Amino acid sequence: MPAMEPSVLFERVALIGIGLIGSSLARVIQRDGLARSIAVAARTQATLDTAKALELGDTFTLDLSRVVEGADLVMICAPMGAYAAIANTIGPALKPGAIVSDVGSVKAVAIRDLRPHLPAGVHLVPGHPVAGTEHSGPEAGFAELFQGRWCILTPEPNADASAVERIADLWRRAGMMIEIMDAVHHDAVLAITSHLPHLIAYTIVDTAAQLEEDLQQEVVKFSAGGFRDFTRIAASDPVMWRDIFLANRDAVLEILGRFDEDLTALQRAIRRGEGAKLEEAFTRSRAIRRGVIAAKQA
Ligand code: NAP
Repeated sequence: MPAMEPSVLFERVALIGIGLIGSSLARVIQRDGLARSIAVAARTQATLDTAKALELGDTFTLDLSRVVEGADLVMICAPMGAYAAIANTIGPALKPGAIVSDVGSVKAVAIRDLRPHLPAGVHLVPGHPVAGTEHSGPEAGFAELFQGRWCILTPEPNADASAVERIADLWRRAGMMIEIMDAVHHDAVLAITSHLPHLIAYTIVDTAAQLEEDLQQEVVKFSAGGFRDFTRIAASDPVMWRDIFLANRDAVLEILGRFDEDLTALQRAIRRGEGAKLEEAFTRSRAIRRGVIAAKQA
């Protein structure tokens, strides 16, 4: 094999799914010349046509067995509910020594659904770039999406160290900082930092959606009071979030139980007029916000 130029990390990258995350990664790979070619697959012809029009890859197909042919990296950027079927289809077509990685938001289930279908000699490096917007589809992506954010990799204990390092390198080139974590731990952390906030946002906005019409109009009109921020989060893709809650059921239910207790305590404090308790809780929250700003994750 000819020696690769310094910037080229992979000969051929296959992207399965070319929505917000897949197309953002495609843009990074193209911008920095990180692969010699990109093969793109989607579920529908419409998405594939859009990806082609945007020139997000070199070859385009709906056939998942074909897209992975000869690929030394296969990056799965599809909703998590499709993982087992995708892995089942691509398994026999994977090149020996290839790396299979993903960007899914829940990691224990990613390993559960991918691992059984991968032949010996193919490396699995599960990953989660913790970056996103409420938009989806190939047009929504942009190369700067990952800049300054964390990418969490959750390799199994016996994972091939050089495969893990190659995936870490890819995300570093995208501007990300790398953290290596156990998959179950990742899911517990993300349940509180991402999944619970989305559930709360979906609930608040849905409550508003069910108000009588005149009150609903006022909610929209005066939304700058705080509601607006929830509507942005609650505009995220319904299929993706359905899959995340189903995939991370245990960790989400655990944190939801705690949240429920804390909410009840605040409810009681409001009913009893216990201002000091409210102030105490809100003061603790403020300190967390300062920490987020200091960590440049605001
Ligand atoms: P998206 O914009 O909705 O794109 C999903 C892509 O997957 C589409 O190209 C879709 O093709 C394709 N797809 C769906 N089912 C497929 C299948 N069975 N086979 C092949 N391709 C399939 O979603 P996204 O926001 O990029 O999210 C993708 C993954 O990234 C999810 O697992 C999510 O958990 C993870 N993630 C998302 C965010 C975020 O903020 N959005 C952040 C970090 C990680 P069609 O359009 O043809 O259906």
